[in-house]
Amino acid sequence: MSLQRVKAPGTFDYDVIVVGAGPAGLTAGLYTSRARLKTLVIDKLVPGGQILNTHLIEDYPGFESIEGADLAARMQAHAEKFGAEIIMDQVVDVRTEGPQDQVKVVRTMEREYRAKAVIVTAGGSPVKLGVPGEERLNARGVSYCAVCDGPFFNNRVLAVVGGGDAAVEEGVYLTKYASKVYLIHRRGQLRAQKILQDRLFANPKVEVIWDSVVDEILGDASVKGIRLRNVKTGEGRTLDVGGVFIFVGFTPNSDILEPLKGRLDREGSGYIVTNMYMETGVPGIYAAGDIRAQLARQVTTAVGDATTAAIAAEKYIEALNEQPEDPQPIKEAAQAAVAVAGYS
Ligand SMILES: Cc1cc2nc3c(=O)[nH]c(=O)nc-3n(C[C@H](O)[C@H](O)[C@H](O)COP(=O)(O)OP(=O)(O)OC[C@H]3O[C@@H](n4cnc5c(N)ncnc54)[C@H](O)[C@@H]3O)c2cc1C
Repeated sequence: MSLQRVKAPGTFDYDVIVVGAGPAGLTAGLYTSRARLKTLVIDKLVPGGQILNTHLIEDYPGFESIEGADLAARMQAHAEKFGAEIIMDQVVDVRTEGPQDQVKVVRTMEREYRAKAVIVTAGGSPVKLGVPGEERLNARGVSYCAVCDGPFFNNRVLAVVGGGDAAVEEGVYLTKYASKVYLIHRRGQLRAQKILQDRLFANPKVEVIWDSVVDEILGDASVKGIRLRNVKTGEGRTLDVGGVFIFVGFTPNSDILEPLKGRLDREGSGYIVTNMYMETGVPGIYAAGDIRAQLARQVTTAVGDATTAAIAAEKYIEALNEQPEDPQPIKEAAQAAVAVAGYS
């Protein structure tokens, strides 16, 4: 049995479509376009992803310290240099057509695109606290991005909610503007890296409020305070603050893969499970970066995943183009090619 093409040549608009133009998407675009694959990178916002919301990045090798926006611009320019086409549009969903899922259909708000392979790097969105006042006061003192909104809070008292890297890093960053920053954490110790914790504890403008959760965000036209509850004692208190920055985690943007539900492995919270080649359960569809189930979610891991995904996609497309006489399915042929090439 040889593999059949689904339709005449011209079926495909692109060799590869990358969903998302954060660090993972821009890296995937760089690699696939450098491999001379016709590549489209689609992002619903401007390219850069979460690093646009990060003031300084100090743990990306080769850059002792670089502003997130600067790194994003460099990654974009690098991908474009090799020919990646980057457009702004929102991907609604991804599905497949034809035997062995040969055609990947990416539906956006504007139109449908067909590609041989799709690399999904849509990252995640901030988790909300889900407390009264949060929705109503969003962008009126409630924020999920210190870099975007910090400058609006000169000499104000702020609350930062969370205990991980983002909360601690951004809490320290906000002291540039704020007269005081309360870091509210529901536990008795932080999850953030030690070096970030040291920086936080050494900052005289920061006060950590342990074992406490926010029950309500107060204010009419803008944030005026928060109502806190100590989870150990049950004791409540009100804190006067002019802004609340929330960093309590991310939820993966994996809903766009809903049409493939049942064929993809997802963790309880929705992160996409892949194998070591970044393959999902659907041949020719890969996931990389923050959207993928994994231990660490960093720029380094995102670009590493994306590199693997791009090379695996290249091998997959080679197998697809060659229409091998060999009856093995394309996915296995591509895996074999990846292993032979020594990428495993
Ligand atoms: C406040 C903060 C500070 C951080 N600090 C650091 C740090 O110091 N060092 C570090 O290594 N990491 C840091 N990180 C983590 C780092 O930013 C992420 O790990 C990295 O950005 C992940 O890259 P990604 O490309 O997988 O996803 P993202 O950066 O999330 O990019 C995903 C992209 O997909 C787009 N997208 C989503 N859905 C769709 C759709 N339906 N259609 C089209 N486009 C879509 C989004 O607009 C976005 O541009 C920080 C994160 C935050 C939030």
